[in-house]
Amino acid sequence: MPDPIISFEKVNKWYGNDFHVLRDIDLSVAQGERIVICGPSGSGKSTLIRCVNALEEYQEGRLVVDGIELGDDVKAIDQVRRKVGMVFQQFNLFPHLTVMENLTLSPMWVGKLPKKQAEEKAMQQLERVRIAEQAAKYPLQLSGGQQQRVAIARALCLTPRIMLFDEPTSALDPEMIKEVLDVMIELAEQGMTMLCVTHEMGFAKAVADSVIFMDQGQIVERNKPHDFFNNPQSERSRDFLSKIL
Ligand code: ADP
Ligand code: MG
Repeated sequence: MPDPIISFEKVNKWYGNDFHVLRDIDLSVAQGERIVICGPSGSGKSTLIRCVNALEEYQEGRLVVDGIELGDDVKAIDQVRRKVGMVFQQFNLFPHLTVMENLTLSPMWVGKLPKKQAEEKAMQQLERVRIAEQAAKYPLQLSGGQQQRVAIARALCLTPRIMLFDEPTSALDPEMIKEVLDVMIELAEQGMTMLCVTHEMGFAKAVADSVIFMDQGQIVERNKPHDFFNNPQSERSRDFLSKIL
């Protein structure tokens, strides 16, 4: 077995002194693996994936991302953020910048790429999410589904090794969910390592290698999608599934 690209070993995290939000998290993700994370609101899903790009710190255990051990080392945090792209529920685009400027900002200022190259790369990624014709527009001139695809393209401009998605379709009108999921499915098919917090179970069935079910800060179950849906292993997963399906 090759080394996992993400490895949590007995990771524990508290918010403040007494809120134990992640409990003994053990999780290995192989390169190219697609993981869907689900579970009730407040179970720690966002906190878990935010640890992977060091948006959250943890107090105990070990987390290694693409060979870099995350701890208090600021340099490690910087290195990891360049390898890990993240897409949020609220698209988090800069409203005063055009689509093109949103995509070239970080490659130019953090990646030190010349403007022309950054723009070429941005155009490639916009084509990949099928929105190249909107490059000169401002985010608020686009639909929610288009904005989310721009956010995905922006993350891809940094050539990430891992993509994190935190409920990327939850803020979208129903008719726009598919256009975003289609882009995510394509990414998955191209071999991207993905951790997706989502309750879109159709997506989980279509592309996930495993589904992880979290409750109260713990990973309660990790299973193949087919088995998770048809034969969940715990009372808590059964109860959750009965509410969302
Ligand atoms: P989920 O994404 O599964 O809904 P979260 O990871 O966002 O769960 O949150 C897990 C728990 O931690 C929730 O009870 C939430 O209120 C709490 N929480 C999240 N962020 C913070 C924070 N910055 N400070 C204190 N508590 C937080
Ligand atoms: Mg969340």
